Amino acid sequence: MTVQNGSVEYSHINLPKIKFTKLFIKGEFVDSVSGKKFETVDPRSGEVIAEIAEGEKEDVDLAVKAAREAFDKGPWPRLPGCERRRIMLKFADLIDENVEELAALDTIDGGKLYKMGKTVDVPSAAETIRYFAGAADKIHGSTLKMSCELHGYTLHEPIGVVGHIIPWNFPSQMFSMKVGPALAAGCTMVVKPAEQTPLSALFYAHLAKLAGIPDGVLNVVTGYGHTAGAAISSHMDIDKVCFTGSTEVGRLVVQAAATSNLKPVSLELGGKSPFIIFDDVDVDKVADLALQGTLFNKGEVCVAGSRVFVQEGIYDKFLVKLVEKVKTWVVGDPFHPNVHQGPQVDKNQYERILSFIEHGKREGATLLTGGKPLDRKGYYIEPTIFTDVADDMTIAKEEIFGPVMSVMKFKTVEEVIKRGNASKYGLAAGIMTNDLNIANTVSRSIRAGVIWINCYFAFDRDLPYGGYKMSGFGRDLGMESLNKYLQVKSVAMPIHDSPW
Ligand code: NAD
Repeated sequence: MTVQNGSVEYSHINLPKIKFTKLFIKGEFVDSVSGKKFETVDPRSGEVIAEIAEGEKEDVDLAVKAAREAFDKGPWPRLPGCERRRIMLKFADLIDENVEELAALDTIDGGKLYKMGKTVDVPSAAETIRYFAGAADKIHGSTLKMSCELHGYTLHEPIGVVGHIIPWNFPSQMFSMKVGPALAAGCTMVVKPAEQTPLSALFYAHLAKLAGIPDGVLNVVTGYGHTAGAAISSHMDIDKVCFTGSTEVGRLVVQAAATSNLKPVSLELGGKSPFIIFDDVDVDKVADLALQGTLFNKGEVCVAGSRVFVQEGIYDKFLVKLVEKVKTWVVGDPFHPNVHQGPQVDKNQYERILSFIEHGKREGATLLTGGKPLDRKGYYIEPTIFTDVADDMTIAKEEIFGPVMSVMKFKTVEEVIKRGNASKYGLAAGIMTNDLNIANTVSRSIRAGVIWINCYFAFDRDLPYGGYKMSGFGRDLGMESLNKYLQVKSVAMPIHDSPW
């Protein structure tokens, strides 16, 4: 280990061999129709890791054809739920058996912490597949009493061919939370991973085949958003699109769905979540949580609590603690076990974050810590904290998706509810207080899909999450998410001489 400019470098790790670089269509790894490839880059160095098949419209067409056939004629939607469950459990076990390799792929592709990948992201992807496997044989409609001359019931049928368009910040978890419920429901699908992080999705496709998921059920088309992604959202033969990504692209996806076959869309979009700290908390503990709330996964988290509102009685003390703690926050090679923050996912994201930091300085916020890139190769940025941030500054309004916190002071409960809600987004919120009345009032008043009281990032498979306002619609995880992949069919028939 060598320490440079406060950063940690680590090179004693066997980097994974890249085994899968082609599109996965109908159970086979294939070149793109055009033969084109794109480079995926290691954000630790900016160097190319591998060339990946660049799927475009023609490739999406082939993948959709495979998924359509698998849905219309193949066994998957017709299997008893317990059979789908058995195969999905095998898939989950294979994920667990390959945890180190999958975690390493997400680290070299996305700059994510290897130790988190190994202990959280990939095991949690396996658990998500298991969670939904458990639902596969419990998908039932209901019996309807109707009037005494009618008997009715509902059937919950798989919605059909699903297009999943996913982002790069949690490649393994995103893959599993989209694919898991869709498989359980009996759907077939085309997955387009983000162009920044295609490697683990291809590996998951390989494991799905080994587990016995029939050919054509799960297809992966790597490629760019404006070509492969757009071909999915505008496809006439896709029955549903599940999108996670930016609000701007979410809007394009809805437009494409509306002007093609009016397929239903669910959107998990951006956020600018408030992290609200009241006077009565343990400042030391909450400062730790606030730092995690913004800096976790180098701030590339849709639910990052990057608008930190601090009540005036503890404001100064909180800032002192924050500065103390940020000094122990290590930025460096994400393979190193002591590192807290790796590089941003790519050059674009790195430059975008630095330009937001410049906005903050220009618009008059006070830079408390950080504010610069690290002086080394790769896309590393110092943990950056601004104070004296006004609600109308760019850094308080726009999603930065990087290690940048804005700290604001407030006086009253009413004031912080109003300011917390003054955002076009409504994804998450954190409320730190020991006062139950305040916790309940604020949690009911904040217009966001997930509220964490005295905790943050408390995700579990049972907890549905998704947004209000421009953070999207529809929910991932939880049993709610299964409904996105089901159609409800109502059946009614006359009944004569009913005894009741
Ligand atoms: P992005 O919208 O640029 O890309 C997301 C995906 O959409 C990628 O696969 C991309 O290739 C694809 N895409 C791009 N243009 C497209 C188009 N015209 N048609 C169809 N698909 C297209 O977002 P990003 O930069 O990859 O991810 C960051 C954003 O994602 C942030 O705004 C973040 O908040 C959001 N996000 C939200 C959640 C959530 O659950 N709400 C989770 C993670 C990320």
